[in-house]
Amino acid sequence: MNKKKRGLVFVLSAPAGTGKTTLARMLAKEFPSLVLSVSSTTRPSRSFEQEGRDYHFLSREEFEKQILAGEFLEYAEVFGNYYGTSKKSLEKMRSSGKHVLLVIDTQGALQLKERIDAVYIFIAPPNFQELQRRLEARESESGEEIQKRLSWAHQEMAEIDQYDYLIVNDTLDNAYAVLRSILIAEEHRVYAKTH
Ligand code: ADP
Ligand code: 5GP
Repeated sequence: MNKKKRGLVFVLSAPAGTGKTTLARMLAKEFPSLVLSVSSTTRPSRSFEQEGRDYHFLSREEFEKQILAGEFLEYAEVFGNYYGTSKKSLEKMRSSGKHVLLVIDTQGALQLKERIDAVYIFIAPPNFQELQRRLEARESESGEEIQKRLSWAHQEMAEIDQYDYLIVNDTLDNAYAVLRSILIAEEHRVYAKTH
């Protein structure tokens, strides 16, 4: 009964603009037992982002060096930039006993499915029109960038069957209520996912 427990790993994917970052932050705020994984990326930082909090911002050269050194548990190229999860930093977070939440794209999630036992959650927008509206309202990408994200969204939605749970982010309150209930239910599994 007093065996030292490792935290669970939750993997959250959703087309850009759906609201996954918003939901992930809400969860981490309510549950101090959960930490957000910080990915590495070659994308330039947005004005409000902080190194080490939102991402580790790397040059393409440095990222490729780390790929060759086998430092990523998964990585993918998304919208022309690399994104990846460092093996070392995930292990460090897991060994703290906390749950870890990874917010990554479908390509990365599919790589992880072959490597670690985790709870895979897909967040879908209520429809593509609303997805476009959210992307435009966020004002972090140009019109051309938004079109790229919308067209990639269709391909990401085709991977829903690979996930354990699907949440439609219609209203934030509804989506968050489901997300927090998944965390609570997974914490109460008799045979918890442990590796
Ligand atoms: P993602 O991380 O999936 O790209 P964000 O969390 O940045 O998406 O959310 C995109 C935009 O949509 C943000 O401006 C956010 O405030 C807004 N948003 C998130 N969820 C909802 C919702 N349920 N209804 C309306 N707007 C939302
Ligand atoms: P953004 O540039 O909007 O922050 O993220 C773009 C996409 O990259 C999102 O789908 C996001 O989930 C994904 N992403 C962020 N970090 C990682 C990561 O470490 N690995 C993978 N595979 N995708 C990531």
